Amino acid sequence: MSKRDILVVFDIDETLIQFINKNAYHYWKEVTPEQKELIDEKLEYVDLGDIKKQVIFLRPGLGEFLKMANETGRIKVAIWTYSERDYAEAIANLICNKFDLPKDIFIFKYGSEDIEDHDIPKSLKQIWDNPKFGKKFNKFNTFLVDDRYGNLCHEINVNNSILVQAFAPFGESKQREPLTDKLLEKAIHDPVFAELTNITNNLIRDIDGCEDEEIEDAFKKEAVFAPKCIERKRLDGYVRDYANNIQMCTIGEVDNADDPNKGGRRGRRLTRKSGRRSGRKSGRKSAYKKYKGYRKSTKKYKMNKMTKKRKF
Ligand SMILES: [Mg+2]
Repeated sequence: MSKRDILVVFDIDETLIQFINKNAYHYWKEVTPEQKELIDEKLEYVDLGDIKKQVIFLRPGLGEFLKMANETGRIKVAIWTYSERDYAEAIANLICNKFDLPKDIFIFKYGSEDIEDHDIPKSLKQIWDNPKFGKKFNKFNTFLVDDRYGNLCHEINVNNSILVQAFAPFGESKQREPLTDKLLEKAIHDPVFAELTNITNNLIRDIDGCEDEEIEDAFKKEAVFAPKCIERKRLDGYVRDYANNIQMCTIGEVDNADDPNKGGRRGRRLTRKSGRRSGRKSGRKSAYKKYKGYRKSTKKYKMNKMTKKRKF
């Protein structure tokens, strides 16, 4: 990592992929022949078959973006999910196999175990202050990409985040929904990776226009999406007023992103200090449940079960 690189930390579910579990697998089996044909032509997916009953859809443009990041070397990538770390590892492997990418492309794969304070989930400060990374990452070069407002809206992350449209061909609810032509169209014409490529290009151009001294200085002071510099970085088209009149960088339709299930309640705590920690509970529980179903049916889990104790 040089001083002039950037680090993009991706969420997994509804950001990189949509995971369809056993309980919802029948929706996949119920798609019409026309829809199936369109999916085969336009979307990437991994179907784990009728025994596992799981299918993973990959967001359009994911493979191209990661290949570009790998080839240019200027964009580093990492993963941080609200599910378990093992799930992050499994999905990272699946993505690397699918797109023939080096296994170490994701410089870290964090899970909920890595969230130190659930009132400030996915705090980037944990990365910036981690001696393991040798102070290479900071507020000038690191940002999150996530569909969950609650992970991004707190003070530490808000100017270092992009809130993205959920990638959800089978709907955004936990139990999933039947695939409609409308949902399928939305998934196929997903704008996120094209816009993200534009954003990272603009950021790199901005960095290349800076002197070394300016960069050193910005490391401490200038957040990636700080309102005062978005015009200079040609990112003003992406920044909008969101809930609580917070200014956020967004891509696509993000109107559902502050739903209580995605941390909207915690979002309101920004202006009202007292409040329940219910956002944390619901987020964690749903992610765990979802993962539990996934893990049960993986060979790796079966092996782990015999050889080591579960972490919780
Ligand atoms: Mg998500």
